Amino acid sequence: MLVAMKAGQLVLADNAHDKTGYSCPGCHEPVVLRRGRHKIAHFAHRPGSQCQLGEGETAEHLLGKRQLLQWYRQRGDRVELEVYLSQIAQRPDLLLIERGHRVAIEFQCSPLSLKRLRERNAGYRQCGIGFHWLLGAPYQRRHLQGPKIAQFTQEVAGQPGLLFWDTRVGRLVVRRDLVRCSFTHGTGMRPVSVVKVQTRHLDSLQYGRGGIAARQLLAKLPSRRPLAACPLVCHDTVPTWPLLDEPVIIWRIRVVMALTRLPIFYFWSQARWQGWLMATVAGHWLGFACLDPHELRSGLLGNFTRDLLREQILIACPGGYVLFRHPHWFASVAEKLNLLVRGGLLSVGGLE
Ligand SMILES: [Zn+2]
Repeated sequence: MLVAMKAGQLVLADNAHDKTGYSCPGCHEPVVLRRGRHKIAHFAHRPGSQCQLGEGETAEHLLGKRQLLQWYRQRGDRVELEVYLSQIAQRPDLLLIERGHRVAIEFQCSPLSLKRLRERNAGYRQCGIGFHWLLGAPYQRRHLQGPKIAQFTQEVAGQPGLLFWDTRVGRLVVRRDLVRCSFTHGTGMRPVSVVKVQTRHLDSLQYGRGGIAARQLLAKLPSRRPLAACPLVCHDTVPTWPLLDEPVIIWRIRVVMALTRLPIFYFWSQARWQGWLMATVAGHWLGFACLDPHELRSGLLGNFTRDLLREQILIACPGGYVLFRHPHWFASVAEKLNLLVRGGLLSVGGLE
């Protein structure tokens, strides 16, 4: 921790001169000043302390907090380090006053479970305090998986995003580039190319040496058909933010299989259609902690509904949707790839 109490006053470690006489603002136990040529000045509890404040802080964490303090102050913001909120027994790394509202700034360098993150955010909400989670180097180095992305997803200027603080350059990094189509990297691919990549990937998942992850994925699917020959409507060609613990295309295949078991002219009211789609996604939503994912989820369901309508598998009618025809499975993967190569998608898939 960078701040301790001395004689009823909060002292910043950088400005601390005396060797002793400091106490923890949380547990009031004595803490010692640590400083050195290669160390950021900070306070530490004595060995054996049960206090959570400042526990296991890395050099990066200490440096980042100090940089953030300067960064916000240079912007002209009112900001304080390590304010202890006794009401909820939490101490954000920084507490910012933004347009008259308090906002907790957390610089997260160590692992944090979804449960703990939700608890921390619930504490802030209870006090009417906003929050931003800035991720440190361990999160930048690792290839972030869907669950961690979802957990720390925040609204940044009206869009989902992740926030990082880079201590090497003392800079805030906003990542909004994590939208994906299933099995693709990056964005900007033509829909036809996306379908080709996904088709080949499904084929190798099912028949290649896919490993345990692939087998677990396929075990969820009730059919033994060649997945790569799935109807075109299964392919998600609009990149979306990570929302599911499985590729969007696998969820779409499950929905299409369920549609195939229903009689033609089956009717759903709009509300029932949403519920029916939701039921096939149940258990696969990733857990969000920093924003309400309702709108993102509606977007995912809406994209698929639009595709089903465009392919005239569903037809909109007053108050709901009717199943107009069953999705068409290709006889073989080769047939599908041939069609893609010939550019026949214009008539079949409505894709450009
Ligand atoms: Zn303490």
